[in-house]
Amino acid sequence: MREILAAPGATRYILEKYGIRARKKYGQNFLIDANVIRGIIDAAQITEDDCVLEIGPGIGSMTQLLSRAAGKVICVEIDESLQPVLEETLEDCDNVRILWQDILKTDLKEICEEYNGGKPLKVVANLPYYVTTPILMQLLEQDHVFSSITVMVQKEVADRIRSGPGSKEYGALSLAVQYFADPEAVMTVSPASFIPRPGVDSSVLCLKAYEQPPVECDETVMFALIRAAFNQRRKTLANAVSHGFSLNGKQYTREDVTEALAKMNLSPTVRGEALSLAQFAQLSLLL
Ligand code: SAM
Repeated sequence: MREILAAPGATRYILEKYGIRARKKYGQNFLIDANVIRGIIDAAQITEDDCVLEIGPGIGSMTQLLSRAAGKVICVEIDESLQPVLEETLEDCDNVRILWQDILKTDLKEICEEYNGGKPLKVVANLPYYVTTPILMQLLEQDHVFSSITVMVQKEVADRIRSGPGSKEYGALSLAVQYFADPEAVMTVSPASFIPRPGVDSSVLCLKAYEQPPVECDETVMFALIRAAFNQRRKTLANAVSHGFSLNGKQYTREDVTEALAKMNLSPTVRGEALSLAQFAQLSLLL
C-alpha cells in the first residue's frame, strides 16, 4: 500500500474494510496526522543506520514512515486481529518485522541481540495510555538496550515526567526518566490528530540516553529508596524507609536514615517528594 495511511480518509477506509473498531482495552487511538508522525521521527533522529523498536504499530500508520527512515523496524503488537490489516498496509515494507506479543512480557535484551547485534535500539511509539507507566518503567530498567525513547503520552504524564521536587506530580516515574535522560517535550498534540479522539491532550517526549549517568549513586539502593519514598508519600522519608524498605536482608532504622539526612543538611522530617535526583543519589551512597 503506497498511500500514506496517516490521514482521516485512508484510516477510515482501512478500518471499514477490515471491520475494525478501535479497542479501548488496548488503548487504541490511531494517528491520522502525518505531520505529527514526521515530527516524532525527526525528533528521534532516525537514520538508515538505526534499528527501531515500535511498540503497538496498530494499523501501521507510523510504521510505514518509520520503514522509510530506518534500516530496520521491529514492532511488538498485542492485538492479533490486526494481522490482515498490517499485511496490506505494510506490504511494501520489507524491513519491518512484527512480533505478536505483549510488550510487558517481551525480553527486550533478546530483541536487541537478535535484530541489532546487541547495539542499542531506538524506541518510537504512540503508547497505549492504559499501560504507559509500566511500559516506560520496563524500558528504563534495561541497561544499554536503548539509545533513545521517543513516545506519545498523555500530556498529564509528560508533565509528571518533567516535574521536580515540590510539585505534586513529582514521583518515581519522574526520577526514573530523569536518571536515564533529560526529557525533551517535542510537541503537544490535540485529540483531533487521532481516530478515535482521546479525551485528553497528548505530548511527544524525546528521551536521549545519557552516556554517563547524571549522578553518582548505588543504583539498586537508590531505586529501592525511591520506591519506598513514593509508595508512602505522606510519610517522612525516615518513616517510609524504616517501615517499608530492606535491602540484601538489611533493615534500615529511622536513626540510620536521620543520620544520613543530617550529613546532607536535611531535616529528619523531610519527605521523599522534597528530594532531588542528586539527593536520592547521595543518600543511596551514605546508606
Ligand atoms: N501506532 C499506532 C498509531 O499511532 O496509530 C497505534 C497506537 S495505539 C495508541 C496503541 C497500540 O498499542 C495499539 O495498536 C494497541 O493494540 C497496542 N498495544 C496495547 N497494549 C499493548 C501491549 N501490552 N503490548 C503491545 N502492544 C500493545
